[in-house]
Amino acid sequence: MWNLNLESAVNKTTKKLDEFISDFFEWVIINKLTKSPYELEKEIKNCSSKLCKVAQQNPTLRKFMIEFTKSKYKFEILYDYFYQVDKYDEILEQGTKSYSENLQFVKDCFDYFYSNLIENETFLIQYQPNSEMSIKNNFRNAVKSVYRVCPYCDLKEVVHSSDISIDHFLPKSKYPLLSINSTNLIVSCSGCNDRIKRASIYFPIFHPFKHRINENIDLKFNIYLPPYSIKLLPKTMGIVKEQVENYELLFNLNETYSERINILFYELQKLRGKVKKSYIKQRAGRNNKSLIKTLLTMEIEQAIEDKRLLKGKMQFSKLYLDFYNYLLEENILKKQVNYIYFNNRIQ
Ligand SMILES: [Zn+2]
Repeated sequence: MWNLNLESAVNKTTKKLDEFISDFFEWVIINKLTKSPYELEKEIKNCSSKLCKVAQQNPTLRKFMIEFTKSKYKFEILYDYFYQVDKYDEILEQGTKSYSENLQFVKDCFDYFYSNLIENETFLIQYQPNSEMSIKNNFRNAVKSVYRVCPYCDLKEVVHSSDISIDHFLPKSKYPLLSINSTNLIVSCSGCNDRIKRASIYFPIFHPFKHRINENIDLKFNIYLPPYSIKLLPKTMGIVKEQVENYELLFNLNETYSERINILFYELQKLRGKVKKSYIKQRAGRNNKSLIKTLLTMEIEQAIEDKRLLKGKMQFSKLYLDFYNYLLEENILKKQVNYIYFNNRIQ
């Protein structure tokens, strides 16, 4: 939800994947469609490039290299790949369809790359020679050094490997060519990963690393009359409104946040307790509403400072920050001052 700069941390890991894809397409395009599978097998056997070295040990990779080379659609697929990588932002806005969506062998091939090949030892020896860890684990670690909370919901930690999943933002089934593309791979909590797998994605949509989601969403709190609730609202109209609505359809955050409203009631109680304590210390004889207001404002501002440092690193930071800002709204602040004044009146 916070716009965090992942580029440097993740680049090291994912560049290897980009290098592999580029080697793969280059080989497929250079070799003529008219070559027989036997000639292509021989070509692989006698070549000493990284790609061919991996292929010499992997019959499935060889099979796909040959199948791609002999496909009459190979130039269209290559064009489709570059289009999706270059115009990723445009796809997020318009949901532009992928040409390769209906080509089963492309789906099978890229699915094999993601689920099998990039974890394969021979692949790692060639494309990631200086690391003991698999690409997926390296990727998880790189991401964890930048954020510790799920970038979709901002609620669950993504620290222990059992709680985290690597997930394709644009689904593999519709955008198979982006299966191992770094922009499309996101480490998230398993709950959000489940939703993104099951729910349909509607466009335009927010992408956690492409958009400042937190700055475009206002959380609206209803803490005075049941049913208590928290709701995602767009900060501006137009495309942002649609992005927020589609984000909500995808992750169902209104419900998830509303279920956690008790933590805000607890937070409010803590704030009131702190104010009461300082108030007793500082008041000069009489009950004094404006002193309560000053103390409460100070406590809230301090809380905002503290939580601001923790965005992306601690659960619920968006929820807390928006809540504190809501408490600072004039009419809400007044209600809270009255509450503290009447409930803690010291005779
Ligand atoms: Zn999540």
